[in-house]
Amino acid sequence: MKQNTDLNALFYSPVVSRLVPYVPGEQPQIDGLVKLNTNENPYPPSARVIAAIQWAAQQGLQLYPDPESTALRQTIAAHHGLAAQQVFLGNGSDEVLAHAFFAFFQQNCPLLMPDISYSFYQVYCRLYGIPVETVPLTDTLGLDVAAYARADGAAVAGVVIANPNAPTGVGLGLQQVERLLRLHPQRVVLVDEAYVDFGGDSALPLIARYPNLLVVHTLSKSRSLAGLRVGFACGQPHLIEALERVKNSFNSYPLDRLAIAGGVAAFEDLAYFGQTRRAVMSSREGLVLALEDLGFQVLPSKANFVFARHPQHDAAHVATALRARGVLVRHFKLPRIEQYLRISIGTPLQCDALVQALDSVLAALT
Ligand code: PMP
Repeated sequence: MKQNTDLNALFYSPVVSRLVPYVPGEQPQIDGLVKLNTNENPYPPSARVIAAIQWAAQQGLQLYPDPESTALRQTIAAHHGLAAQQVFLGNGSDEVLAHAFFAFFQQNCPLLMPDISYSFYQVYCRLYGIPVETVPLTDTLGLDVAAYARADGAAVAGVVIANPNAPTGVGLGLQQVERLLRLHPQRVVLVDEAYVDFGGDSALPLIARYPNLLVVHTLSKSRSLAGLRVGFACGQPHLIEALERVKNSFNSYPLDRLAIAGGVAAFEDLAYFGQTRRAVMSSREGLVLALEDLGFQVLPSKANFVFARHPQHDAAHVATALRARGVLVRHFKLPRIEQYLRISIGTPLQCDALVQALDSVLAALT
């Protein structure tokens, strides 16, 4: 071990020694596991997506893909009533976020973000040397927009929020998002809408009016394509151009031919999108009631997961006991939220399995 430390000191860039990498939820390969820990969609992608990927696989994988992913850019732009120059694509929204942090937030002053949010934001800040100022969520874990004002004129690098927030699932109304945009007109306000299709209010209609707004989406959740790695940002062309500059200084081809073809087909199959989205939302409502019956307090969720705590039982303990019964949920050992469990919405069968497992776990604990 000692020798490794010496070798690290010898070869690593200083920034690498300081990194604290993000730890994704487990992806164990265990048959029959009820996997409700990483907010994937419980339904497979549209059959049209699979057909498009198969078709693309036969159309010249020996050739590089279109570096601009034009077909997908145009499809997404048309879908959201935007121009193609208002859309930027990346290898999952994590990559889009990383490029946005690099492009907009390295300003030698702190980036504002909620104290409880998607933990990858802080990881990018360490990677790029961006100071962070966390703004506490309210006691009920909602976002307090007024707390983002800096009356003393203190410089900020920008603002990043997830809406709906992760891991709480709590949504912020559009008027509040607009207030946030007006608080810092000279800085980019990044709204990460990874979960917005499950009932949240999207800020996309505000893009025309706010040159500082960048909205980030993913195909990993509501379009069941976590395995394909496609995310995108929408904003006015000057913001998209900055992202293109970063991308073209990093990787010309973040999206492969299969991802471009599959992504286009996912947006074309509107009926399937609507159907799976509604199924997830309806399971969520059922699961909330079932959890409340078991004594859980559940935050109001606009996402494909719920965030719940039980006043009598330790969350880490419950998560471990659930795992022993073949049900995986996510527990974060972090201040303010360590008594919560984040539970992704599964199929009705998976939700029933979770509720049954919880019932027996709680019975064993009381
Ligand atoms: N934003 C939020 C809030 C998320 O929870 C996730 C998923 N972990 C992402 C972005 C990244 O999603 P992806 O890279 O799969 O697009």
